[in-house]
Amino acid sequence: MNLCDAFAELATRFGERFSTNATLREQHGHGESNAVLFPPDGVIWPETTAEVAEIVRLCVAHRVPMVPFGAGTSLEGHIAAVRGGVCIDLSRMDQLLECSPEDLDCTVQPGITREGLNHALRETGLFFPVDPGANASIGGMTSTRASGTTTVRYGGMSANVLALEVVTPQGEVVRLGSRARKSSAGYDLVHLMTGAEGTLGIITAITLRLHPRPEAVGTLTCAYPAIRPAVDTVIELVQLGAPLARMEFIDEVAARACNAWSGTSLPETPTLFIEFHGTPAGVAEQLERAREVVHGHGASAISTSTDEQEIAQLWRARHTAYHAGRALRPGTEAVTGDVAVPVSRLADNLVAAREDLDAHGLTAAIVGHVGDGNFHVLFLHDPAPSREADLVNEVYSRMIARAQADGGTCTGEHGIGLGKRDKLQAECGTGTLQLMRAIKQAWDPLDLMNPGKILPDA
Ligand SMILES: Cc1cc2nc3c(=O)[nH]c(=O)nc-3n(C[C@H](O)[C@H](O)[C@H](O)COP(=O)(O)OP(=O)(O)OC[C@H]3O[C@@H](n4cnc5c(N)ncnc54)[C@H](O)[C@@H]3O)c2cc1C
Repeated sequence: MNLCDAFAELATRFGERFSTNATLREQHGHGESNAVLFPPDGVIWPETTAEVAEIVRLCVAHRVPMVPFGAGTSLEGHIAAVRGGVCIDLSRMDQLLECSPEDLDCTVQPGITREGLNHALRETGLFFPVDPGANASIGGMTSTRASGTTTVRYGGMSANVLALEVVTPQGEVVRLGSRARKSSAGYDLVHLMTGAEGTLGIITAITLRLHPRPEAVGTLTCAYPAIRPAVDTVIELVQLGAPLARMEFIDEVAARACNAWSGTSLPETPTLFIEFHGTPAGVAEQLERAREVVHGHGASAISTSTDEQEIAQLWRARHTAYHAGRALRPGTEAVTGDVAVPVSRLADNLVAAREDLDAHGLTAAIVGHVGDGNFHVLFLHDPAPSREADLVNEVYSRMIARAQADGGTCTGEHGIGLGKRDKLQAECGTGTLQLMRAIKQAWDPLDLMNPGKILPDA
């Protein structure tokens, strides 16, 4: 790596849009995770695809590693510059390039955030539904194959990305996919890039599916005496094919945290939030049907709302559950666990996780996009190396092993990054891992694109 020459050229060419300032490097050296800080040697802010391609070619010429950066909200050390190099911050490429309401699609630059995109779409009657809670960038969401509260109805990023413009690790600009709703044209490279975590190239434009804003929205909030009946409700509603738009779970610890943080008055027991979208009559009918199912599983309190303000307050509380959970023990480190299982295995996995946490006296809130069989544990532990930190690691490893043994995965949506490379190995086995290595080698033979991520060290 010839860092000095590369940096001299970047500074000459990009002026103040290239920086080696220590604070900026530090800000770009970790996401929201607690992975050890790996700051890049420099940070650069391109404004066009041509500039991204130019930066990549320059880095390749000097063998400098590159780490693409969106909004920095990822949780598994994705943006840690483990081999130094340049962080390519895409946040200035934040425009809605094109919107076609008649085709229900749009094309955006990667740095636009999901809130920014929905703001830009406000006059169209359409919206982009993938909602990971954090105000992440669309490029980052594509690269982590993100999903969220509405995935049960609208799908996650993989279901909503139609086409991509990508700068390859050689600095070529390529187009993957098309605006057609379906295609049988060759290998599906769009879905290979969706979730590649910046290891195969830099996404410079994304064509997305859009959805009509629902005419009416209705929610049910249902409190239960225990986790299992709440999850049994989920299983029954999913198996009945109820047209759920959101189906979220919070346990008693998360409910307590949300009340303290957001001033809500949620029952402090395992709770389900169920939401339907549609016409006013359709939503009313679905709420009534769901109420019967919920009641049948012994919910201790059920409330319904079709009021926009009330519903917005509910989701604000759910979306701040991460910060609310962290406030349960200020000064501690947080680890955000993420597993997904087939929905029929959800109750056993959730109950086993809660019992393991309680048996070891750990403070941890559980939340989940349970309609997708996906749940998170927010573990808190002493920041210093300690028995508590080891216990968190052990309990989390058991949670992942149970999910994998039940046909599930070590990550439903956060991705592998740096933190879960060994879990990927356990999940997919040697043969599949060799195929992944072969793909990486073919696309990025110099191993300069976000090196050290996804694949365990050989
Ligand atoms: C409070 C909180 C709640 C969260 N809830 C959810 C959730 O419900 N669902 C969920 O899926 N995630 C969730 N996350 C995790 C996070 O928001 C997602 O992983 C998100 O997709 C990351 O987007 P970002 O823009 O912050 O990407 P970054 O963190 O900047 O980058 C993530 C990865 O993508 C790569 N990358 C970024 N931009 C590009 C690009 N243009 N081209 C190529 N590679 C690129 C980076 O190199 C890195 O590997 C949550 C995080 C927080 C803090």
